[in-house]
Amino acid sequence: MLYRLSGAGYDAYLVGGCIRDALLGKMPKDFDVATNATPEQVRDLFRNSRLIGRRFRIVHVRFGREVIEVTTFRGKPQDEHGDHIAHQSDEGLLLRDNVWGNIEEDALRRDFTVNALYHNIADFSITDFANGAKDIETRTLRLIGDPATRYREDPVRMLRAVRFAAKLDFTLDPATEAPMYDQAPLLLQIPPARLFDEVLKLFMSGHGLVTFRMLSHYGLFGMLFPEAEEAMADAAWAEELIEQALTNTDKRIAEERPVTPAFLLAAFLWAPVKQRQEELEQEGMPAIPALQAAAQQVVSRQLEFTSIPKRFGIPMREIWELQQRLPQRRGKKPFKLVSIHAFERDMTYSCYVNKRARYRAVWATGGPPFSAVMSTSSVACCKSWRRPGKSRRWSSQTAA
Ligand code: ATP
Ligand code: MG
Repeated sequence: MLYRLSGAGYDAYLVGGCIRDALLGKMPKDFDVATNATPEQVRDLFRNSRLIGRRFRIVHVRFGREVIEVTTFRGKPQDEHGDHIAHQSDEGLLLRDNVWGNIEEDALRRDFTVNALYHNIADFSITDFANGAKDIETRTLRLIGDPATRYREDPVRMLRAVRFAAKLDFTLDPATEAPMYDQAPLLLQIPPARLFDEVLKLFMSGHGLVTFRMLSHYGLFGMLFPEAEEAMADAAWAEELIEQALTNTDKRIAEERPVTPAFLLAAFLWAPVKQRQEELEQEGMPAIPALQAAAQQVVSRQLEFTSIPKRFGIPMREIWELQQRLPQRRGKKPFKLVSIHAFERDMTYSCYVNKRARYRAVWATGGPPFSAVMSTSSVACCKSWRRPGKSRRWSSQTAA
């Protein structure tokens, strides 16, 4: 693809995470290309391509199972070239960033120094406009430019800072770290759909537990899951449950076993659902309708912060309902008990599969269900999960 772009007379570089990860000796997760061709020119060159986004227009080029993200060099937001202009809100949030520029300007528009290294396939050189190579050596995550301004332009950069620090085991540069405590609430300006995409990257990359602890430390977790944050303040078991669920997910990813966000979402929101259910029961509502009403209330508040696509929302609610049924597991309806292999050496696990075999919930037989905290038991779930827009299974992706 790089050769086709350069054959057509354009500059084309590999940039971002793939170069950073390669320099760290890690296998890149995906490939990002930067070019001076406009999105339309890129689309005209590749039949298997799609123009994506309004705020930040890019092109996705599909090669078999891989999707390569191609971005046109961005310039300074103040510049105006034709209708390609940048828009900023009064608070400094970049509403649109489609000003084209040159490679050097592009480098300075990127988030972290270690993400601004460009690999030129023509001469195999790496160009480093922001001193990223040094930060890779010292394992430092440093925003390019003035951190407070860069977070105001795009508050998601705070989540990215935490994600990369956790994933790469990097230290946040003090100036990059300092504004996060105060600026965390800026995340409330970000559309719920974009935040959900970030939630997947934060918690489904194999470093969920460290990421959760860092997010909580900077006050960022509460901007994504406020009800969960409130429940953790009330009950210690709520945090234990989340930590245990993340530990399980991280472990499964490390073992290249299938994981699903539905399970984590169910764990994050279980304490608020349970608390609300208890309140409704105290008002005289029977247990099952109280659970359903509580789930409805908690989910609708959550959707103001992050979206939850149906493909995860439905199994998430099924996991909650299953918790209600777990104590009655002697009954046959509607779940059927099937035995499975031992999940951990010293614990016996059993598995319920519902009629449509949508998912399997695994828990310690005889131990407390999900609802009673998983500090001693373990709950895992479910069907393999496909990453949105990509056809590869998550487990093989993290293995890549
Ligand atoms: P990953 O391994 O998660 O793919 P990545 O660094 O490649 O990490 P991407 O989201 O694929 O992250 O983005 C590719 C590149 O685009 C980044 O390396 C960075 O240079 C730039 N970038 C992405 N998001 C932002 C942002 N919000 N602000 C500034 N630059 C960004
Ligand atoms: Mg990338």
